[in-house]
Amino acid sequence: MAKCPYCEKPVSISTTGSDKTNEVRKEVKGIIKKEILYSCPHCDRVLGFGFFIGVSLTGRP
Ligand SMILES: [Zn+2]
Repeated sequence: MAKCPYCEKPVSISTTGSDKTNEVRKEVKGIIKKEILYSCPHCDRVLGFGFFIGVSLTGRP
């Protein structure tokens, strides 16, 4: 399991499983790019950014 680099508490990126308390918060920014902001559920610090995988499939002809 991943750890938050700031508060060193366990965080989980996967939505599968039952540990919802450790699940990172995912905030979607943008309509076309679908940038995802991940933040720690314990200390609210930003952990990083991600992108939907499907963008490259749907964004171009
Ligand atoms: Zn944290």
